[in-house]
Amino acid sequence: MECGVSLVEEVEDTFEDDDGFDLGDRILCPDGTCTGIIVDGRCSECGRTPDEVKKQEEQQEEQLEEQREEQQKEQQKEQKEQEEQEEQEEEKQDKKEPDKE
Ligand SMILES: [Zn+2]
Repeated sequence: MECGVSLVEEVEDTFEDDDGFDLGDRILCPDGTCTGIIVDGRCSECGRTPDEVKKQEEQQEEQLEEQREEQQKEQQKEQKEQEEQEEQEEEKQDKKEPDKE
């Protein structure tokens, strides 16, 4: 039976993946630091759904923005204090030179 040989080859060509799911459909975890993939709506690594990952990322971004705003406020405060100091020094200099006006 020569055709039997080719039959065996055909069976080998159509073997399926061990896990059974199509690799072409796999969705990577939205979390960039996570190497998991989404299986049945949940990440195989961290166990979160894509929505949960998104929400957490949004919360992190909000926290980062708040931190940035606070830093900016601090910087502005420092700048203001510096400017006030400079103004005071200028006033002193002005007093030293009354002829200026
Ligand atoms: Zn994940």
